[in-house]
Amino acid sequence: MLRIILGTLALALSGSALAQYPTKPITMIVPYAAGGPTDTVARVMGIAMGKPLGQTIIVENRPSAGGILGPEALKNAKPDGYTIMIHHIGMATIPSLYRQPRFNPLTDFDYVGLINDVPMTLIARGNFPAKDFKEFLAYVKANKAKVTYANAGIGAASHLCGMLFMSAIQTEVLTVPYKGTAPAMNDLLGGQVDFMCDQTTNTTNQIKSGKVKVYGVTSKKRVPSLPDVPTLDEAGLKGFEVGIWHAFYAPKGTPRQAVDRLVAALQEALKDPEVKKRFNDLGTDPISLDKATPAALQAHLKAETDKWAPLIKKAGVYAD
Ligand code: ASP
Repeated sequence: MLRIILGTLALALSGSALAQYPTKPITMIVPYAAGGPTDTVARVMGIAMGKPLGQTIIVENRPSAGGILGPEALKNAKPDGYTIMIHHIGMATIPSLYRQPRFNPLTDFDYVGLINDVPMTLIARGNFPAKDFKEFLAYVKANKAKVTYANAGIGAASHLCGMLFMSAIQTEVLTVPYKGTAPAMNDLLGGQVDFMCDQTTNTTNQIKSGKVKVYGVTSKKRVPSLPDVPTLDEAGLKGFEVGIWHAFYAPKGTPRQAVDRLVAALQEALKDPEVKKRFNDLGTDPISLDKATPAALQAHLKAETDKWAPLIKKAGVYAD
């Protein structure tokens, strides 16, 4: 009898703790370097989601090439609603790119929802000797033995874009991997590497200030915040299109009430005028609210995993 009463009491207490969730700061794992495109989205969203949650969201960078260590950390985190992770399209491509990934995006996590769609830009160091895409292409083909491409490792958006680009122009160049495109951008600005395809969230300011050269955007339509930059399709690379998306994940087994609160906060943040403005300025679109849900993320992840698997297999790229 006593045991039943105690059990009921414990349940009521944990229930009320959950009803008050969150009672302390939430950690958001970012699987790439600070100051890069994923980190930027994480920080904008962290501040905005903290308001409806009434708690601070602490961004914790766990950078690794390809963003493969962040999901492993999330998988091993306590499923109590106090650790979440932001990740991008890599969650759909890593299972095909790595022979033995240490997590399965389709089964090892709980889903919160999609965040945004981000186009990418093909950029080069400021003194790269090509004024437009046509000259760029001719230069890369003629100098393929010495030109270098920076990316954030196998599994990164910049890796995916570079892989598709090199296959489209049928020219391979040396790739230089980093633990995020923030450090890659530093080296591009310093002239240590030649070019990169990176998300507008990391390149817009550098493009606008003229510190890097831009040859095209990877979206079907031009990006409103970069109206003078042609699409790569317009520039001559017919049909070339790469779109990156971000989403939030939680450890498997996170209490339903906590996930519901996180989803509500995500939805609030996507409606926040500050978020809309920051995203617009950086050339990214907040996702429509119906996609900022666990079910929509799960469906999107599955669809993207199925879409990329045969393309990656065909490209024959593997990390071990
Ligand atoms: N999203 C990565 C970063 O934040 C870059 C990439 O995936 O290319 O650095």
